[in-house]
Amino acid sequence: MKIRTACPLDCPDTCSLEVTVEAGRIVDIDAAPADHSSNPLTDGWICKKVKHHAERVYSPERILRPLIRVGSKGEGKFREASWDEAITLVAGKIRAAIEESGPGSVIPYLYNSSSARIDKKRLMPHLFERLGCPEVEQTICASTKSAAWEWTFGGMLSADPLDVVHAKLLVIWGGNPGASNTHLCHSSPRQRSRVQSWS
Ligand code: SF4
Repeated sequence: MKIRTACPLDCPDTCSLEVTVEAGRIVDIDAAPADHSSNPLTDGWICKKVKHHAERVYSPERILRPLIRVGSKGEGKFREASWDEAITLVAGKIRAAIEESGPGSVIPYLYNSSSARIDKKRLMPHLFERLGCPEVEQTICASTKSAAWEWTFGGMLSADPLDVVHAKLLVIWGGNPGASNTHLCHSSPRQRSRVQSWS
């Protein structure tokens, strides 16, 4: 069975995916065919990270249960725990900190780009709001960068990525699109033809 979906990572490319599932298991993840219903930026191909995502999903090394540290920090010693035990432990630590020093002593610092829509703006902020904890921009590294950009340039506007091919000159400063902005580079046949049109 082939399923059309979209990449859930917080990468702005938001690729259109076609996922092949057999007997309830992912057997292939690839770009959705480039047609009227797919994201034109995907252009028939996706990054290696998501193309091989099934290996991560089914990896025997994937951590599926909570781990509680049993050694010193940095020692790398953990034991498996049930979800009930882990949640009780964390809730107890949060409660103790609030009782001892007030809700300002608990800073929520959460980020998970693989479940951005669920984690980032939805469930967890409500929990910490109910507890009276300080509101912080949870993706601390990205948020400081965004604030600096807005103070310096006044907004996060940029060119439509699909228009980039029409530019006569493209200056890339402090970035490596070959590694982190793959659809800006020219790997697919359609994009290669765009490159030729530049020259
Ligand atoms: S480039 Fe990769 S991470 Fe980004 S949206 Fe496409 S498949 Fe997802």
